Amino acid sequence: MGRPAIFFDRDGTLSHEIGYVNHLSRFRLLPFAIDAVRLANASGRLAVLVTNQAGVARGYFPESLIHEVHGRVRAEMEAGDARLDAIYVCVHHPSVGEAPYRLDCDCRKPKPGLLRQAEKELDADLSRSWMIGDRHGDLAVAWAAGARAALVKTGYGLGELAWHAPKWPRQPDLVAENVLEAVERILSLDEGRP
Ligand SMILES: [Mg+2]
Ligand SMILES: [Zn+2]
Repeated sequence: MGRPAIFFDRDGTLSHEIGYVNHLSRFRLLPFAIDAVRLANASGRLAVLVTNQAGVARGYFPESLIHEVHGRVRAEMEAGDARLDAIYVCVHHPSVGEAPYRLDCDCRKPKPGLLRQAEKELDADLSRSWMIGDRHGDLAVAWAAGARAALVKTGYGLGELAWHAPKWPRQPDLVAENVLEAVERILSLDEGRP
C-alpha cells in the first residue's frame, strides 16, 4: 500500500500569485509555505508540488526558468528543514504556442496526469491524498484522481469563493485561510483514519 500525499499548487498557494513568474526576481514564497511543507514531512506524507506553467507554451519564458525557480524553492525549503519529495510541472497548452509545448497533454490541471505520475513514481496512495490549491482547477484535479481537495483563501482563493463557489456542483472538502492551516486541518481530519 502506498503513502498518502499532500499535493501543493504553487502560485497563490505556496507562493505569491503575481501573474506569470517570468523572472526569478518575481518569485516569492508565502511566509507560511515552508512551515506547511515541514508539517507535511513530519506527518509521514509525501509532499509534492504540482503546477501548470503554460507561460512556456505561450513563449513568455524558457523552460529553464522554471527549473531555476524550483531550484530556489528547494533551497529555501531545505534552509527551513522542509523537503518537497517531488516537483511536477505541466509546460503545455492545448492550443497556444509551438511543439513540443503546444500539446493536448494529460498533465495540465485539472487533468490528473501529474497526480498519476506521483502514484507511479512515488507510490502515492491517491485515495488517501489531498490537493491544496487556490483555484477550482486544483479541486477538480484532486477529485479526478480520487483524492480530496482543500481550497486556500490566498491567491485567487477568496475571489473563487466569493464569485464562483456558489455555483460549483461540488464544494471543497476543506476551506482554509492559507496553506499552513490547510495542512494542519488535513492532519487533524485524517487522525484515526487507517
Ligand atoms: Mg494557484
Ligand atoms: Zn501537460
